[in-house]
Amino acid sequence: MVNLEEKINRKCGFCRGDLYVLASYKYPPKGETNFNLEPYWRRLLKCRQCGHSVNQHRFEFDTDFYSNLYSASTYKGQLRSRFQKIMSLPFDSSDNQQRFDFISKFIIELNGSAPSRCLDVGSGLGVFPALLKEAGWTCTALEPDPIACNLISELVGVKTINTHFMNVKNIGPFDLITFNKVIEHVRNPVSFVKASKKLLPPRGIVYIEVPDGEMALKNNGIESEEFFIEHFDIYSKKSLECLFNMAGFEILLLQNVTEPSGKFTIRGFAKMPENSTIDE
Ligand SMILES: [Zn+2]
Repeated sequence: MVNLEEKINRKCGFCRGDLYVLASYKYPPKGETNFNLEPYWRRLLKCRQCGHSVNQHRFEFDTDFYSNLYSASTYKGQLRSRFQKIMSLPFDSSDNQQRFDFISKFIIELNGSAPSRCLDVGSGLGVFPALLKEAGWTCTALEPDPIACNLISELVGVKTINTHFMNVKNIGPFDLITFNKVIEHVRNPVSFVKASKKLLPPRGIVYIEVPDGEMALKNNGIESEEFFIEHFDIYSKKSLECLFNMAGFEILLLQNVTEPSGKFTIRGFAKMPENSTIDE
């Protein structure tokens, strides 16, 4: 299945480096959610230069897919208990609490105070917005799935927006916009991140975290979940740096981290450049 040397006629979308075939699949690998995609065909391409990987296949995980995510196979209606279970994790084993701790320390160190208006894009079950609210931050949760949105309103009690990020209108500005494990699921991540500029004031900050393909490959091999079909892109630190630059942001911090759950993650903060003009 694995052919490390097959070269292909396509360049890396982030650094223009050469891509090669890292793996190809005729069946979903063990552990991947079965989306009933028939016939299954997929291959992983990896950039020799920046270490980024892309999933190449015929399936569209389009806007409808994410509008129905929580009513579909992944969570099977156990949303409330799942939310409670994640919320009750102690700090040492909670990815969400440690994420919030990291973000709040960074922002308060940078600006001297907590951000007054936050937008969390792709909130899922709403655990992260719940932690922001607990800390007294004002957070709006944007989530394309209506079932998840209703749950966030009910269980968390923050303002929700039930739409896709690329379709938002007349909201903001926000001092902080967070994308927690979101941009690996979108087809055009550069336009997606660039769209946040319209919602940020001068000195506004974006926080992005994505699965770390390089660390996952090194530690768990090609079968690890970071490479599953629902991720269009599997980032390296270098490719996430390219993404921030291509979207016109100035990087403040970029780092690899192993989360309490064992997930390998790359996370970073960036801000609007001082002389930024919004070109889209
Ligand atoms: Zn590259």
